Amino acid sequence: MCGVFGAVVPPGSGTEAATVAALGLFALQHRGQESAGVAVSDGEQLMLYKDLGMISSVLDERRIPSLRGNLAIAHCRYSTTGSTVWENAQPTFRLGPRRALAIGHNGNLVNTRELLASLTGGRARLPASTDTELLTALLADEPAADTVDALVRVLPRVRGAFTLIVLDEKRVIGVRDPFGFRPLVLGRLPAEDRIDAPERPAGLWPEDDAASGWCLSSETAGLDIVGAEYVRDVEPGEIVILEAGRAPQSVRYATASPALCVFELIYFARPDSYMEGRNLYEVRRRMGMQLATEHPAETDLVMPVPDTGAPAAAGYAEASGIPYREGLVRNRYSGRTFIQPSQTMRQRGVTIKLNPLREVVRGKRLAVVDDSIVRGTTTKQIVSILRRAGAAEVHVRISAPPIYHPCFYGIDTQVETELIAATHSVEQIREFIGADTLGYLSIRGVLAALELPYERFCFACFDGRYPDPVPYDAASRKFILEEPIPVRG
Ligand code: SF4
Repeated sequence: MCGVFGAVVPPGSGTEAATVAALGLFALQHRGQESAGVAVSDGEQLMLYKDLGMISSVLDERRIPSLRGNLAIAHCRYSTTGSTVWENAQPTFRLGPRRALAIGHNGNLVNTRELLASLTGGRARLPASTDTELLTALLADEPAADTVDALVRVLPRVRGAFTLIVLDEKRVIGVRDPFGFRPLVLGRLPAEDRIDAPERPAGLWPEDDAASGWCLSSETAGLDIVGAEYVRDVEPGEIVILEAGRAPQSVRYATASPALCVFELIYFARPDSYMEGRNLYEVRRRMGMQLATEHPAETDLVMPVPDTGAPAAAGYAEASGIPYREGLVRNRYSGRTFIQPSQTMRQRGVTIKLNPLREVVRGKRLAVVDDSIVRGTTTKQIVSILRRAGAAEVHVRISAPPIYHPCFYGIDTQVETELIAATHSVEQIREFIGADTLGYLSIRGVLAALELPYERFCFACFDGRYPDPVPYDAASRKFILEEPIPVRG
């Protein structure tokens, strides 16, 4: 999972595209915390700045003013292929015989080895070890004169999850893979960003597409922060082309077989974002209500694991009639534990992150609502923190089904043995985490909360039905482009 944002500001605008893109990216920080970067074009040349770290430290006020131009893309990274090193930060940049390109990628490719075999010169040509770097090289090499033509030729050979934001000298281009595993939305920037705009009430340019500024964002929350109006989702299998002074263009390169990652709605995306026409806070609240029906608990309080468990806990309390209280305080500046790259960091993270409200939990029977259990170690520590704070009983309720299968489409759960549900029964998990009872929401319950058909989503980590079959050796290959190059002869 990563965050991508692209912006095209209209000619004559008083705003640099880099400022819009960096601001939009800021709303997507939860999608990746390992690195951040912005690439810009002034119509002639691309410039790139990227570094390891959080967005606010990488894209600070000293950097942004030097990144000038009407076109910009931005990216924050959560690694699923390649280590957390500077070279692997994005956007990528490549100067090919036909074009200069910068790319931000959300997702994970599953045929990296085959693609590598088709790259002239092989891995020695890649300055980084990500699937995105490989894709950038393939696109830069493609002899088609136009970037969109190059995409149309190369993308049908690419398999797996890829939501891309591509920058060339003249355009910002948004792409979703045919399954649309990762989201991408199109927005229109407000007219106030034009300094040459005639006097008019603050608002949009509804009938003047060519004069508008446009943006692309992983989530609608990214549009909100820059004041953009949501226009529509980029469709699976679609390329959307943004150019300064023109209305957006659309090219379809593949038939859509929609399979949006359902975990985006359960947990990853922000609760104030909208997907599939639904506000995610409301979706999660309804998941909590379903959970209360499927797994009631006799407790004094319902409390969330902050922050992501809060909407489902509110729904659980509402449906059960049990009072809702907050019993854990989250340190806002410590980041998500799940998203940090190593197990040691994850284990350390939870104690940095959460502190109990002893006055609330002491002597109480608690229904503790969270949105997922991946490895189980975080939940185990939460139960232990609450017991140490004096909780009489801890009943854990999870607003998602057990994760039995790895994800190869952009979430770093590629190794089955790291998933506690893949090797333990629910009762064994309960015992491991030290809870009095444990209940997971069913797939049927998720669908009831979504009020959408199963066929619209990927549920593979819950039921093993991968929309795009995964080649066997894609498993456990996060570092496929860092393996030693075989020496011949
Ligand atoms: Fe999302 Fe799970 Fe499918 Fe991965 S396998 S895309 S996490 S639903």
